Amino acid sequence: MQTLSVGVPESCAACGGPLPPPAQLCRTRIWCSDRCRRDAYTRRQSPAQSAAEVRVVERVVVQEHGLAECAHRVALSPVACMNVLRELRRLAEAGTLQSSPKWQRPRLAVEALVDVLHPTSRGRRW
Ligand SMILES: [Zn+2]
Repeated sequence: MQTLSVGVPESCAACGGPLPPPAQLCRTRIWCSDRCRRDAYTRRQSPAQSAAEVRVVERVVVQEHGLAECAHRVALSPVACMNVLRELRRLAEAGTLQSSPKWQRPRLAVEALVDVLHPTSRGRRW
């Protein structure tokens, strides 16, 4: 899949006001409200009142984002957090988390999390 980076509109195409956050991923908001959307539709239906015809084209764009943004999005979703923890558990059960230097920092982060959740188990590892 080709990934395109496209700037997201920051203001309403009708009134110039701020846009609310997107309701769905990959769906860019153009109007700040149903009223602005309806007003724009009405304007498009009566081209005689405007010197230029405006055509709005919506398209789905997959936007790249960094790992920090991924982590932020995961942290907002209990289901995504559970999936990450399941994968870490799978790595721990396979011994990968304990033996591979690549996984040392995540292992220490998991241990710190366990220490916070269960302070009495401090010192017990895996
Ligand atoms: Zn608006």
